[in-house]
Amino acid sequence: MTSIGGKALGRDFWVVAGPCSVETREQVISTALSVKAAGADALRGGAFKPRTSPYAFHGLGREALSWLREAGTLAGLPVVTEVCDVRDAELVSQYADVLQIGCRNMQNYPLLVEVGRAGKPVMLKRGMCATIDEWLMSAEYILSEGNPNVILCERGIRGFDAETRNVLDLGAVAATKLKTKLPIIVDPSHATGRSELVAPMSLAAVMAGCDGLMLEVHPEPSRALSDERQQITPEAFKSLMESVRKVVALRPELTEANRWSE
Ligand code: PEP
Ligand code: MN
Repeated sequence: MTSIGGKALGRDFWVVAGPCSVETREQVISTALSVKAAGADALRGGAFKPRTSPYAFHGLGREALSWLREAGTLAGLPVVTEVCDVRDAELVSQYADVLQIGCRNMQNYPLLVEVGRAGKPVMLKRGMCATIDEWLMSAEYILSEGNPNVILCERGIRGFDAETRNVLDLGAVAATKLKTKLPIIVDPSHATGRSELVAPMSLAAVMAGCDGLMLEVHPEPSRALSDERQQITPEAFKSLMESVRKVVALRPELTEANRWSE
């Protein structure tokens, strides 16, 4: 069983929260302290940002990694951050407790091999057009390097309606739970792209059977340098955590009564 910061994934519901991008030392420290106080289990924050446009903000790199690490240590939270390039894997591993592979890199096989060898748990996001089997095969690239600590993350797939940024595939969460013992978490922030949809989709994701959530939280979402529409405030996060805890507590009873085999 993968254990991160004393939490056993699959047994303990696991919540990762923090800004889309690490922007300043103060921003990441203040977010870390507030998400910790609200009950988060890990801190996220991007230092290397894969962006659709080459002209967009791409993260502050090494400096952001050091602020993220400092914030995690101050708050008592393990840190999760993305590695986008084989050439950065060693640097990111020096700072991160969990290496994140973003959706755009789900099938970057040399990168999967590299993080498989890094000796850290890996969070593998589902590619935006990847089937469940392709996603699980990507996980195999990491597992087959001798790294058993892979966490899957559903973050929405490409749809046809721009009303939401992506389509949160909760059917895939329930289906993937039947195919693998790997823990699977859900990222409703990137799935919906809209802060007002994050709470309902988080609660729905819990009932779909996920092992945790990844939520983007920013002290001032409208001023964020990336993903400003989808980040929630620390206050909204606190309130959502209270509801998530209640649904997680109810889940065993509700799901046991409705379990059918194929
Ligand atoms: C992220 O979580 O920071 C991110 C870029 O997400 P995704 O790879 O799912 O787009
Ligand atoms: Mn983001």
